[in-house]
Amino acid sequence: MTANWSYPTAIRFGAGRIAEIAEACRAAGISRPLLVTDRGLAGMEITTRTLDLLNEGGLGAALFAEVDPNPNERNVAAGLQVYRDGGHDGVVAFGGGSGLDLGKVLAFMAGQTRPLWDFEDIGDWWTRADAAAIHPIVAVPTTAGTGSEVGRASVITNSETAEKKIIFHPRILPSVVICDPELTVGMPRSITAGTGMDAFAHCLEAYCSPHYHPMSQGIALEGLRLVAENLRTAYDAPTNLTARAEMMSAAMMGATAFQKGLGAIHAISHPIGAMHHTHHGTTNAVVMLPVLRFNRPAVEDRLARAAAYLGVSGGFDGFYDFVGQLNADLGIPANLTELGVRDPDMDRITASALADPSCGGNPVQMTAENTRPLLESCF
Ligand SMILES: [Zn+2]
Repeated sequence: MTANWSYPTAIRFGAGRIAEIAEACRAAGISRPLLVTDRGLAGMEITTRTLDLLNEGGLGAALFAEVDPNPNERNVAAGLQVYRDGGHDGVVAFGGGSGLDLGKVLAFMAGQTRPLWDFEDIGDWWTRADAAAIHPIVAVPTTAGTGSEVGRASVITNSETAEKKIIFHPRILPSVVICDPELTVGMPRSITAGTGMDAFAHCLEAYCSPHYHPMSQGIALEGLRLVAENLRTAYDAPTNLTARAEMMSAAMMGATAFQKGLGAIHAISHPIGAMHHTHHGTTNAVVMLPVLRFNRPAVEDRLARAAAYLGVSGGFDGFYDFVGQLNADLGIPANLTELGVRDPDMDRITASALADPSCGGNPVQMTAENTRPLLESCF
């Protein structure tokens, strides 16, 4: 499976294509890249090899890896310092969601004079940015879930308020993406499961969102199928490159589709992750069944169609049971308590969920009255 795509951006897809990293940087107009990734990935072979490839390609081998699992404004400030001191002219955003999101924000902020939170995804705040001052980005995903490599936003946690904020700009979309499934084979199994279910959650919430967007609808449906047919294989046989490649496609499809909207899964998962530092995709998987029950009146027919497409019998109930079995097969905890969320501040989580932009795409309107019981049913 090898392909070059130009939708939604330039994507070099196929095993071994990380070898093209230096040329991809040049294609993006980068001659002195800063590779941005998280601490866990910094010492791994796929990262050192990528740095070697950049070095051999004459582009230097600069690394910034002071990135928390939920990247925050302190990581942004530290990264910008390194970026400016090193005279860099573009970013290689490398990793799972943390490295990709922080790398994208560094390239975005490199030439801005206003503070980070001025660019939160509220109304038209993105127009405050000097678009010409945004530096180019090459994205290299090493997981298959977030889809941030084809996204126009980054999620950054405000560590003072423990809130996840979305930084949005159309030009945060990386100009070149290298999708090399070989980079994902070394993921811990729990991360394969959690990130894979994040891709599923993106497709599911986009598919269920009531907004009119038939293109996203089609992409989300096929993304659901790719996860349904390949995530177990990627989990059970980590070196199966076909399953890994299909999961990489599904991840990009999820992120492309959720322009249509997300929903209660993400609205709940964001505050839980910000306050309790849980894994984003795994948290989504844990709250998926309660949210499906909550949304049932609005999505019963729609999910019956999805079930039929996936080859699952039984309509909505069949789809619901399918998700439950998938979670069980992947070792996903049964509820948020099992995930390790202790002493939750239910009032605060409820308020944050209702303030989260994701809740606008939920097919059942979320209110103070119905969201608190929904949250309780996740424990
Ligand atoms: Zn997500």
